[in-house]
Amino acid sequence: MTTPASPMSTFDEVNVFFDRAADKLGLDDGMRELLRSPWRELKVSVPVRMDDGTIRTFTGYRIQHNGARGPYKGGVRYHPDADAEEVRALASLMTWKTALVNIPFGGAKGGVQCDPHQLSEGELNRLTRRYTMGIEHLIAVNRDIPAPDLGTNAQTMAWMMDAYGQMHGHTPAIVTGKPVELGGSVGRDSATGRGVMYITREVAKDLDMDPAGARIVIQGFGQVGEWTARIAGDLGCRVTAVSDVQGGIYNERGLDIDELVRYRRGAGGVGGFPGGEPLTNEELLELDCEVLIPAAIDRVIHKGNAPRVRAGIVMEAANHPVTPEGDDILNDRGIKVIPDLLVNAGGVIVSYFEWTQNLYQHQWDMERVSAELNRIMTAAYANVRDTVQREEVTYREAAFIIGLRQVAHVVKLRGFI
Ligand code: NAD
Repeated sequence: MTTPASPMSTFDEVNVFFDRAADKLGLDDGMRELLRSPWRELKVSVPVRMDDGTIRTFTGYRIQHNGARGPYKGGVRYHPDADAEEVRALASLMTWKTALVNIPFGGAKGGVQCDPHQLSEGELNRLTRRYTMGIEHLIAVNRDIPAPDLGTNAQTMAWMMDAYGQMHGHTPAIVTGKPVELGGSVGRDSATGRGVMYITREVAKDLDMDPAGARIVIQGFGQVGEWTARIAGDLGCRVTAVSDVQGGIYNERGLDIDELVRYRRGAGGVGGFPGGEPLTNEELLELDCEVLIPAAIDRVIHKGNAPRVRAGIVMEAANHPVTPEGDDILNDRGIKVIPDLLVNAGGVIVSYFEWTQNLYQHQWDMERVSAELNRIMTAAYANVRDTVQREEVTYREAAFIIGLRQVAHVVKLRGFI
């Protein structure tokens, strides 16, 4: 999909970043085309009997981008904009992300074009089962392992596991991000937010910034945004604003996140929270702060608003929240942009732990999950920072360079071309 903020599709935008890294690596045209192209794409119809008795047919996708380094891995998104181009873009980001953090997976993504907030629980259950049946022949424990993403959650994964299990027998390792009672990993729900804050801590160290008291602004209060806010609060940061799709809430002295979580449970959204002033999502992105964390949807910072961003650091917790034009403007203005490939990798890393635990039917405790996550993320950050310094590139260029180099190397090692 293109938007007024960008005439390019999301996939073309991701490939702008890809091409910049490929130029630095001097990749030849053949290798470039191979690495850019998705390996396999499936489009399925997802007919659902609605609660009122009518039938609606949704469109679903599963796109496997690159499996050179291991089974395809990537979330499933339920969103009205989840078309082929968007799913393709997100699948390619997964290829570079798993390579960057060096876990043994390739990249994939799935999506169903729907608004999950307009569907009842029964409709979502039926939609998820239909979608799973539609992609069942492409996924397998050693081939492709879905996970939650925007608009999906642990419940969605439980339904997917159950639908797959009805055809193949009990197979917990077919999805990650499941409820713990069904073989999910402890700490998977908080993993992406935890990882965001591990990277924030490392960046702050390098920039001599004290995270305690730093003003943090977060767009999105779902799985990623809420946990990021909670963990930021634990680290002593001041979360001055958060938002969801309906709008945001702001308090210069810092929001009480525990109170906000309780309020949201009852109210269904953060809007109207008595501990702050209302503001729009557009205003939130332009707030004066040390760290701005887009943790909702893609392409929210673009050439139209990038000149007005007043954060010192942008931590990309969402996938592809900054367009290439927006990225150039932020870089020119000296704002540090720490890329999605690194910042939000905590989710797929703990998904890797979950898959491993399922394969040998074991369960790790929280201490082990946190320690291993911390170790992998800190090492990935150090690799990116060293590349930034050594090759005089941006953090994004460094992340893409490391990811592309790894995948290109493994493609050559396999010798399949
Ligand atoms: P979610 O569905 O749990 O939450 C999304 C949040 O964003 C909600 O608060 C929603 O109200 C808000 N939102 C939706 N549309 C918005 C809009 N137009 N403007 C402002 N806010 C909006 O999703 P999530 O799992 O938290 O994922 C958020 C982002 O993080 C996505 O880009 C996703 O790809 C990425 N991500 C998620 C994970 C994960 O583990 N869930 C891992 C890596 C990356």
